[in-house]
This record gives sequence, structure tokens and C-alpha cells, in this order.
Amino acid sequence: ALTIGIAGLPNVGKSTLFNALTRATVLAANYPFATIEPNIGIVPLPDERLNRLAEVFGSEKIVPATVSFVDIAGIVRGASEGEGLGNQFLANIREADAICQVTRVFADPDVVHVDGKVDPASDIETIATELILADVQTLEKAIPRLEKDVRNRRVDAEVLDTAKKALEILEAGKLLSATSGLDHDILKSFQLMTTKPFIYVFNMDAAGMDDDSLKQELRELVSPAEAIFLDAAFEAELVELDEDDAREMLAEAGQEESGLDQLARVGFDTLGLQTYLTAGPKEARAWTIHKGDTAPVAAGVIHTDFQKGFIKAEVVSFDDLMEYGSIAEARAKGRVRMEGKDYVMNDGDVVEFRFNV
Ligand code: GDP
Repeated sequence: ALTIGIAGLPNVGKSTLFNALTRATVLAANYPFATIEPNIGIVPLPDERLNRLAEVFGSEKIVPATVSFVDIAGIVRGASEGEGLGNQFLANIREADAICQVTRVFADPDVVHVDGKVDPASDIETIATELILADVQTLEKAIPRLEKDVRNRRVDAEVLDTAKKALEILEAGKLLSATSGLDHDILKSFQLMTTKPFIYVFNMDAAGMDDDSLKQELRELVSPAEAIFLDAAFEAELVELDEDDAREMLAEAGQEESGLDQLARVGFDTLGLQTYLTAGPKEARAWTIHKGDTAPVAAGVIHTDFQKGFIKAEVVSFDDLMEYGSIAEARAKGRVRMEGKDYVMNDGDVVEFRFNV
């Protein structure tokens, strides 16, 4: 499964957020190397549509899609030179498919900041710099080899060219994820870190959460990457409550959706994933596929036999189904489509597959 690595400087609230994510009970500790062991947290992707489907079909249970997060050991300056837990940090980042950087905005004099002051822009730059330096090293090692391989005609000149252009971009201090125009597949083959999509989580206190101009400033700082604003301590309290109390606490704070739910949604999307839905008396369920997957591939997520014996998919959009109230009624109105093996799935398709066994 694809994973999102949660990274950030020490004491920014990573463990607090991660614990909230997993509802785990690992204690957040107020010292730099508190998060040595990477842990995995698998959280449900919030999807109101499943509740509505379950009502229509009288489903016994709801099975949401999930998003996987990995807690990554705290970075220190000099990680790219193997300082502190640097090597471990970089190895963990390399394994993640997207990176979520937690950045401290909350000001709490009791919680030490590694650099002595709260400065989101500088924190973001510190991590970007370490990852950029590590990628520069990787490319500087790779380029002489590629030059030889191109001379021997073992590698296309385009590959070397892409490596050189990427190196130039990195040397100008830019993340490769924030640049376009380089061949994605070639870049991927270099196993770089700054090609991975970034999500920025700003860990705010209550005053920060109400400060729209501060949020706008931070949003612009990381654009075009996604910015999520949350209060990790608040989120940690929220997950301890039952649904009704949590909704009340959110409403009191003037928020429509918890920060964790936002993070799960944005993370899922950033990984290039989407869902389709199935429903019946047993369960209403969301299945995870990649954006652009065809119907047989989607069927294969349920069972490989569904893919092998794929005949067709009976598809109705969630909105049409809700409008007509049942599959039968939607079919009578011509809203249930028969789709073949080339059909590209849409998010929220409600599907039944026909297949040979
Ligand atoms: P990590 O080193 O990034 O994993 O940070 P932790 O989650 O361990 O948090 C470091 C300290 O900051 C702990 O004492 C937390 O209780 C505290 N902390 C985390 N999030 C917040 C927050 O939103 N507000 C305040 N005031 N303190 C926080």
C-alpha cells in the first residue's frame, strides 16, 4: 500500500498528531529524539457517501477505504551528511510515497524549539535543504555513471539530460516536486526524495486557527503544495470523544471537519488514489484504486478472478443513485450504464461487476 511519511523538525507536534491519527497511546515526549522507531498508522478515509449507501441498501456494516501514515524519525540539520538519526531519516523518507511535513506555528514557551524560535518558513527550508542536498549527492554520483552508459549506448541520452537538468534545479534550491517539465518516469528511476509530493501541516494554537491572514500567508508559502491547518493537541483530545461529543467540540471551535479527516482526504488524493463504491445488504464499501484505473483493474482490487474473468461493469454514479433512490429506479430511468474493459473509473462510481468464473 502507498504510504505518507510524517516528517518535521523535533518538537513540532509530530508524535501528538501521529498518536491522534492512530489513536495510539505512545507518549509524546518533549525531547528531540522521541520518535526513533517508525510506526505505521492506518486511518479510515472519511466518506459520508457510505452512510447514505448503507441506508439505501440496508447494509449491515460500512467499510471505508484507508490511508497509511508512517511516523518518521525527527530530522536534524546535517541529516544529508549522516548526522544524528540522519541516515535513518533519509531511508524512511525514501520509502514513503508522499511526505507530510508538520510545521510548528503554535507558540508555547514550555516547548523548546530546536532553533530557538518559531519560524515556519525557516523550518520548511531546513527540511527542504536536507532533502535537496541528499538528492544532489545522489545525482552527482549517478551522472558520471550515466555519461559512461550513454557513451556505450546502454542508456538514452535523454536520461542523462534529465539528470543534469534535475541537478540544476536542485542546485538552485528548488524541490523537484514543485517543478514541471521533466520526464516523470525518468526522474522516478533516480529514486530521489524531492520528487515526492509534499503536504504541509501547520500545527497551530487556537488563536492561529482563527487567524485567516496568517493562514493565507502560510498557504502562499507552500503553494502549489497543499496546506492543512490544525491544532494537534486539539485533535488528540477530539479522537478520545464519541462521535456526538466530537461533533459538538468541532462546532464550538468553528470547524466543519477535523484536521485528521482533512489530512486523510488530502493525503489520499495526493497519493493519486480514488475510490469506487459497492453496496449490498452485507456491506457498503469503498475500494481503493489509482486515478485513471480501468474497470477490470478496479474489479481486480476485489478479487483477481474478477479481473481475469471480467465481462462488464454495471455503473451508476453516486449522485444519480441518490436522486432515484434505488438501483432499480435508476435503471428504469436509464442511469445505470454497462461499461466494458476500457472504461476509466470515476470517483464515486457505484459498481457491480459481471464476470466469468
Ligand atoms: P515531535 O517531536 O515533533 O514528535 O513533537 P511532540 O508531538 O512530541 O510534541 C512536542 C511537545 O509539544 C509535547 O510536549 C507536546 O505536548 C507539545 N505540543 C504538540 N502539539 C502542540 C500544540 O498544538 N500546542 C501546544 N501548546 N503544544 C503542543
